[in-house]
Amino acid sequence: LAGKLADEDGFEVFAVGGFVRDILLRQPNFDIDLVAEGDGIAFAYKLAGVLGGRVKAHHKFKTAVIILPNGQRIDVATARLEYYEYPAALPVVELSSIKMDLYRRDFTINALAVHLNPGRFGLLEDFFGAQRDIKDKIIRVLHSLSFVEDPTRILRAIRFEQRFEFRIGGQTERLIRNAVQMTFFQKLSGTRIFHELRLIFDERNALRCLRRMDSFALLTHIHPNLTLDDKLIKYLEELESVRNWYRLLYEEPAAQSWIVYLLGLCGHLPPEELVQIAGNLGFTERQRHDFLALRERTGQALGKLINWSQSGEPLSGLYFILHELPVEGVLLLMAKSTRDQVKKAISVYLTRLRHIKLEIGGADLRIIGLEPGPAYGRILREVLAARIDGKAECRGDQLA
Ligand code: ATP
Repeated sequence: LAGKLADEDGFEVFAVGGFVRDILLRQPNFDIDLVAEGDGIAFAYKLAGVLGGRVKAHHKFKTAVIILPNGQRIDVATARLEYYEYPAALPVVELSSIKMDLYRRDFTINALAVHLNPGRFGLLEDFFGAQRDIKDKIIRVLHSLSFVEDPTRILRAIRFEQRFEFRIGGQTERLIRNAVQMTFFQKLSGTRIFHELRLIFDERNALRCLRRMDSFALLTHIHPNLTLDDKLIKYLEELESVRNWYRLLYEEPAAQSWIVYLLGLCGHLPPEELVQIAGNLGFTERQRHDFLALRERTGQALGKLINWSQSGEPLSGLYFILHELPVEGVLLLMAKSTRDQVKKAISVYLTRLRHIKLEIGGADLRIIGLEPGPAYGRILREVLAARIDGKAECRGDQLA
């Protein structure tokens, strides 16, 4: 359909970027990126009109997002020759606008385009050897100034390398080391580093990305005292399997991976260094507050959890410890717990106990003639505890 509409107006339209890469890699990808060799915004409006979606346009960048009624998004960009500064090494006349557009991208594997116009539908444009790199499982930049132009690509290279189990090419790796050595990465704003880090933390194997970052001495940009030793790696491995387990449950609320990993990575540092990390990564006031508060609260909850596990108290005891925490804190504690029995109890909490609700409230106590007062809270808590322990049908020390 997109191709037909573009044909009507006499220009080419392409599917590009990660969408095309993932087709070749046979990976699911629902983010469609289109590039029009014409007015991308006008094209987006036309396409949205037929599909029944709405358009958010960015006139400054000549891009638009179409949001379909089912929430699916289609990004549309404009590839126009006059829009770009030409890289000095390239003969301008020979370049189509789609080639220029692709040349500005990060890696060869992300610089593929597929024709959508009816006459050439499905034809792949591969100007930079992307198919070969996909076959050889290599992440390669398109030119030697790529990381100077945009140092966030260093983190993107690591993310794609670990996601697809590819390898950063030799020359690309040298360019990364140069860019780090020449402090280009250091010049990035904290916010941009944090944005890329969050994408890394959302990866299924984020820890492998962190280890790779460490190999390029990049963790010190989060904080100078940050290094991965065996103990920390072991804990992060546990944290990753806990986070991935929780993710597969599709429980609500979803855990925010960035806070889980960052606290896992930096939680052992003193509070003033955590404040520095919040500054280095350009946290918002809210993120800073959540980050610091969660570290404080999980620290306190860990002490209570240890007491609970040694006391043989029923599961309601665990419920009241964990119920104070957001899910990220619960996952951190689950990873910290060295005893399988405690881990198991926390998993029971996450999958069952925390959903238990009381069907009575203060109003019911009033009906049976109890005077409102502090006893209400105590009574309701006891009823909830009875419910939890009854429903769970076993105690913490019986779980193993
Ligand atoms: P993901 O699967 O993680 O969403 P993606 O490749 O779709 O990966 P996006 O961040 O959505 O990643 O970017 C879409 C496309 O835009 C990429 O495929 C790439 O071609 C281009 N791109 C994104 N970020 C950069 C960058 N920093 N420099 C150059 N090109 C980029």
